[in-house]
Amino acid sequence: MLLFQKLTKGQIIATCKNCKNEIEAKKRQCPYCGILNPTVTLKDIFIGLTIVIFVMSIVTYFLKN
Ligand SMILES: [Zn+2]
Repeated sequence: MLLFQKLTKGQIIATCKNCKNEIEAKKRQCPYCGILNPTVTLKDIFIGLTIVIFVMSIVTYFLKN
């Protein structure tokens, strides 16, 4: 029933990486423990880094030619 309630609210619920409480995914600060970007995981950081490296590779390629 808890899952059903989450869906009807129309909110994406994520878990805080620090205190493990359930919070809205769009929240930029955890209301329980106060850390910033509580739903940003290592996976998100890895994806971001991959994109940056990819873009830099393209830029470097075109600068060399
Ligand atoms: Zn938290």
